[in-house]
Amino acid sequence: MSRPNIMVLLYDSVAPRFLKSFGGAIEFVPTIYNPIPVREYYTTSAVTSSAIASIFTGKYPEEVGVLRHLEDRLPLGEPVLGEYLSVGGYSTALITSNLNSVYRMIRVDRGFDLVHDSGTSWDSPVIPLDLHSITGNLKEPWFVFMHTLCTHIPYGNRATFDASKYSIYDLKGLYMRRLAETSARSIAPALEFASHNNCTTFVLSDHGEQIEVDPRGTVTVRHSWIGSDLNVAAATCIIVPRPGSWDELSKVSSVPGIHSSIDICPSILRLAGTPIPDRVSGTVIWEGGHREVTCISDLCVDNRKMRIFPGGKFEVKLGDVAYKIGRSVISGPGKEYILERMKGLGYGSR
Ligand SMILES: [Zn+2]
Repeated sequence: MSRPNIMVLLYDSVAPRFLKSFGGAIEFVPTIYNPIPVREYYTTSAVTSSAIASIFTGKYPEEVGVLRHLEDRLPLGEPVLGEYLSVGGYSTALITSNLNSVYRMIRVDRGFDLVHDSGTSWDSPVIPLDLHSITGNLKEPWFVFMHTLCTHIPYGNRATFDASKYSIYDLKGLYMRRLAETSARSIAPALEFASHNNCTTFVLSDHGEQIEVDPRGTVTVRHSWIGSDLNVAAATCIIVPRPGSWDELSKVSSVPGIHSSIDICPSILRLAGTPIPDRVSGTVIWEGGHREVTCISDLCVDNRKMRIFPGGKFEVKLGDVAYKIGRSVISGPGKEYILERMKGLGYGSR
């Protein structure tokens, strides 16, 4: 069997708890395409650039030094997914909407034959993903990576957004409508294309989105951990195998174990028939799992803007035990600072 074409559709800020595959209301990935949801999938970071660094290198953000959004960059000697696949004989394309500067800045745009920023505005739910013309410029087997902000609240300027002006139900409703629109206008057409083009697709989010009322009674939207535990570290990973082809993946209906962003790179390399280098920390999703996953997170307690706390990181360890009892263990250099801030917000220490 020929090697598959491979596509990654990365939608920013998709929280799995809203999706049907994970017990929510929205059919994000249509079931007619036989999706395999990865039920225990966590981001390595609620910070977009750190999560992307993990996806592209198969390593934790602290291993590659990308901890702060738009400040840290990968070392040039750290190979990335596009380079691995390019060396492995794949023709490659990177498509982003308003995110090219992020990809260039953290140096994950290497190894792509074609790099295109669609320039979509935040307000537009339309993802102009013309797969026919993109892949028409590539030789098979090809790899297409697409990232869009379309599900990312507030669908406009984040700096001036004030979630507290909304009711929690309105905000969740708006978010779910956005997920449904994304599914209908982007995912369904892309998967229809994939099903006719020998393509296996990964539908991912970089991190979740937490919409809640905090202890002060204020509606907030965050990517971070405080007061939200595993809901935010939980991210979306749904694999859609090319139809009726690849034996190993076609026998999989659900994936046991704990997985994270570092597993995407080795999983794609396995599908591509390309060696997985020793330097990669992640494992192939359908071949195993972790006992524990580490998530670094920003501190994001302000309604109006994301703030990264001084010092860059704290850690949430997501192990079997922590998951079962519904709490996370805080460690790392930011611990005292975080606990103080949490107390100030009424969360108490735990
Ligand atoms: Zn993000």
